[in-house]
Amino acid sequence: MKQVTSNVWVETETRGCNFGFVTTTDGIVMIDSPHKPTTAMWLKSEIEKRGLLRYIINTEPHGDHWTGNAFFDAPVIAHEGVRTRMLNTDMAEHVARVGTFGPDEPALLEGYTANAPVITFRDSMTIHVGGHTFEMIHMPGHTLYQAAVIVKEEGVVFTSDNIFHGVQTWLHEANPDLWLVALESLRKLNEDIFVPGHGAMCGKDYLDEQGSFISEWKDYVKDAVDRGMTREEAVAALTKMTDRYPMDVEQEGMAPMVMRLNAGNLYDFLTGPWPPASISGAAVATRLPSDDR
Ligand SMILES: [Zn+2]
Repeated sequence: MKQVTSNVWVETETRGCNFGFVTTTDGIVMIDSPHKPTTAMWLKSEIEKRGLLRYIINTEPHGDHWTGNAFFDAPVIAHEGVRTRMLNTDMAEHVARVGTFGPDEPALLEGYTANAPVITFRDSMTIHVGGHTFEMIHMPGHTLYQAAVIVKEEGVVFTSDNIFHGVQTWLHEANPDLWLVALESLRKLNEDIFVPGHGAMCGKDYLDEQGSFISEWKDYVKDAVDRGMTREEAVAALTKMTDRYPMDVEQEGMAPMVMRLNAGNLYDFLTGPWPPASISGAAVATRLPSDDR
């Protein structure tokens, strides 16, 4: 793993989301978890060399951020929408898919029990562990349940998938307008060492590029809607972004599918009603960021 500050370690080159941990004077806090069980077991050994794991924080509801929680014995903290999504996940189907990620994954998935968040927040939450302060701020965008995790003493922000740095951006359940608000919230933070959800480490200088790509996507689909295309026509025709960025690690070949998902979701967003029940979760309100930090 890469040490990015005196107490923060991150991994950005394995399949699934970026994840990391923070060493404090009172144990370790992990942010997001690996998608692959074999990677989770490797991370577990890296953490055990350095101390006791106290908490896991998940930044969003997608499975590549929480599948690996199950391999650690620590309470999970996340937005309440992440808990709802996990509890509503068809785990048999989820486990079957993760089991295809490699030859050694199925054995580790026997008896899989997801480690869902037991401490949840809506707008924000702060925890203090040893000498470190972890501030979680709800920033809907990529999904309605994103959170940025700010490690105050290290100047580091785990941004969730509101940033895809140099790899294809998934907008399959995004609210593009809230996402642009989220990027401005990130810009206003004091901290400038960003661990994006996917791709290499970056800073505020990437926010403009991320924002303009989201705006371009929205305009691209709006143009199709304005020209009278049906959803099916738009999903089939809107392929110009396919080679704009590479896919993230071990996602080669998935770009055409991501283009279809992005176009379909943005079509729904622009023509309503949105969000569809499939992505809204049960009874979780859409919330704007609580302030403009
Ligand atoms: Zn995601």
